[in-house]
Amino acid sequence: MNNFIDQDVSLEKCPALVLNADYRPLSYYPLSLWSWQDTVKSVFLDRVIIVSNYDRVVRSPSFNMQLPSVIALKDYIVPQSKPSFTRFNVFLRDKFSCQYCGSNEELTFDHLLPRSKGGETNWDNVVTACSACNVKKGGKLLKLSGMKLAQHPYQPSTEDLHRNGKAFFGSSFFISNILMMKLIFSEFYNFLF
Ligand SMILES: [Zn+2]
Repeated sequence: MNNFIDQDVSLEKCPALVLNADYRPLSYYPLSLWSWQDTVKSVFLDRVIIVSNYDRVVRSPSFNMQLPSVIALKDYIVPQSKPSFTRFNVFLRDKFSCQYCGSNEELTFDHLLPRSKGGETNWDNVVTACSACNVKKGGKLLKLSGMKLAQHPYQPSTEDLHRNGKAFFGSSFFISNILMMKLIFSEFYNFLF
C-alpha cells in the first residue's frame, strides 16, 4: 500500500495518520493527521509506535529515516465525544444532501431560524441546503416558507459522523468532491474502518 509515494513527492504530502493507543484514529473528522516534522519529532521523543511507513525517505547528515505514514500513540487519549461544528461536519451529518429537496449540488448552509431573526450558527439551527432552496427560503421562518425538512438538525456524535462517512466512502460523489480525502483514504484505508 505504500508504493504510490515516491522520492519526488513533496514532504508536505506525507502526513502521518495518528492512531490512539487502541489503534483507532485519534479523530475522523477532521482526520487526525500530523505533519512529517511533528511525526519525526514524536518518534524521536519515543511517544509513538510506527505502524506503517511511506517509501519516502528523509535524509540528514546524521540519519536516514523512512517517513512513517501511520503511527500509534503510546499513551491513550480519551477521544472527544462531540465533533466540532464545521462546514464539512454539517454536510456529513446531513449526508451531503439538501435537507429540503435532497439535491447534492451547490450545497450551502441554511439557518433554520434566520440570522436576521436572531438565529445562531450551531448544530441545532444550521442545515445543509442547496443554493436554490436557500434562496427560496430566504429570511423566512420554516413554517411560513412552505418547505419541509428531511430531518431536524441535531448535535451528532462522533459515531454518527463516522457511520455517514463510511456510507459515503467509495461513492463517486464523495470521491469527486473531496480529492484530498481520496489520497488520504487510499493510503490509510486499512487503518480507518
Ligand atoms: Zn434543495
